[in-house]
Amino acid sequence: MKMKVLLVLTGLLAVAFSVEIFEGHQVLRIFASDGFQMEKVKELEALEHLQLDFWRAPAHPEIPVDVRVPFSSLQGVKVFLESNNIQYSIMIENVQKLVDEEKLFMSWTHFMPRSVENFNYASYHNIDEIYDFMDLLVSENPLVSKIQIGKSYEGRPINVLKFSTGGTKRPAIWIDTGIHSREWVTQASGIYFAKKILDTYGKDPSLTSILDNFDIFLEIVTNPDGFAFTQSKNRMWRKTRSINAGSSCVGVDPNRNWDAGFGGAGASGSPCTETYRGPYANSEPEVKAIVDFVKSHGNIKAFISIHSYSQLLLYPFGYTRTAAADKAELDAVAKKAVDALASLHGTKYKYGSIITTIYQASGGTIDWTYEQGIKYSYTFELRDTGRYGFLLPASQIIPTAEETWLGLMVIMEHTRDNPY
Ligand SMILES: [Zn+2]
Repeated sequence: MKMKVLLVLTGLLAVAFSVEIFEGHQVLRIFASDGFQMEKVKELEALEHLQLDFWRAPAHPEIPVDVRVPFSSLQGVKVFLESNNIQYSIMIENVQKLVDEEKLFMSWTHFMPRSVENFNYASYHNIDEIYDFMDLLVSENPLVSKIQIGKSYEGRPINVLKFSTGGTKRPAIWIDTGIHSREWVTQASGIYFAKKILDTYGKDPSLTSILDNFDIFLEIVTNPDGFAFTQSKNRMWRKTRSINAGSSCVGVDPNRNWDAGFGGAGASGSPCTETYRGPYANSEPEVKAIVDFVKSHGNIKAFISIHSYSQLLLYPFGYTRTAAADKAELDAVAKKAVDALASLHGTKYKYGSIITTIYQASGGTIDWTYEQGIKYSYTFELRDTGRYGFLLPASQIIPTAEETWLGLMVIMEHTRDNPY
C-alpha cells in the first residue's frame, strides 16, 4: 500500500517536472519469420505517429525485433501483427513499473562518499556523481589523471580518465561507455573498470604489464547531454541533444555519425528517428572530440566502445559486407574474450562482425577507428538479452562489469602481445 502511494506521488512529481512517463508502455518482441514479415515490421517503423521506440531494430529475420510501444499505439500494433500472422511476445508488461523501481533504488543510495573505496559501485549514479567520482579518483591516485577532450553540445565538459605509469606518447588502449545515453549499465561498468585498474595495478601481473607498456584512456560519460536528459526528463533517451535545423525532433545517433560509410544504409536521414545520422559526419561535438583526440594521439592500438544490450562482442564492419582484412584474428580474439567473459557467471555472448551478427549500421564508431588503422577495434553489447533491456536492475551492475572486465583483459593482453 505504501509503495502504491509513493508511486502515485512519483507520478505526480514527474508530471509537475514534465518527465516522460511510460505508464502502460510495453516492450514487444517480434519474430518476423521471413523477409516479407520483416518488410511489414519495417512498415511499422516508418509510421512516426505510432511513436515506436525500437530497442532492437528490424534486421535479419533470425534476430527478433524489440520495440517499446506507447499505450496509445498498443492495440493498433498488436492487431497489425496478428493480421499479418507475425508472432510476438510481451517482454516488458509495463515499462514505467521498471523505471519506478529503478528510481526508488537510486534515491536510497545517493550520497557522495569521501573516498572511492566507499563509493557505491552497485548503484546507478547521476552525471554529477560520476563527475565527482572521477575527481575523487584523480585526487587519490597519481596513476590517473583527467583530461577534457571537448565540450558537449549543451556545454558540459567531455572528460576522459587517463591511466598511465609514465612515458611519453606510449601506445594506448581506449575504452568508452555510454555513447548511447540510456544504456546505463555501460556507464556503471565504466566506473567499475576505473576502480579495477587502480586496484589491480601492482597486484595482477597481467594488468600491471599492460599498464607498464600502454596508457589506458577511459571515457565513462561519452554522451553527457543525453545522459543528463535520461535522468531529468526521459529515461529512454539514446541520442545526443543537438537541435536539428528545420525539425522539432532533437538529437543525432552518435553511433551513426562517424566518417565511415556515413549516410549509407543502416542509418536514417530523418531527425525524428532513433538512428538519425546527423547532417554530416562528425557533426556532433561528442563524436568530433574523440575523432580529434584519436587523430592527434596517433598511437592508439585498441579501441573498445561499449553498448548494451544483447550480449554480443562485435568487430568491423557494420557498413559493408566486405570482411575486415584482419577478420580471422579479430574473430579468434573475440572467441577467447567471450569464453573468458562466460567463465565467471556463465553469461553467453555471440560474436562476429557487426553486419553479419546484428544488422547493417553505417557511420559507426569502430568502423571509423578500424579504418584509421586501429586494428583491435571492438564493440560490446552488454547484458541482458531483453528481459530488462536498457532497464537492467542495479543488482546486475557488478556481475556485468566484472565479467566484461575479463573479456576486456583478453583484448588488452592480445594487444600487448601483438605489437603492430
Ligand atoms: Zn548502443
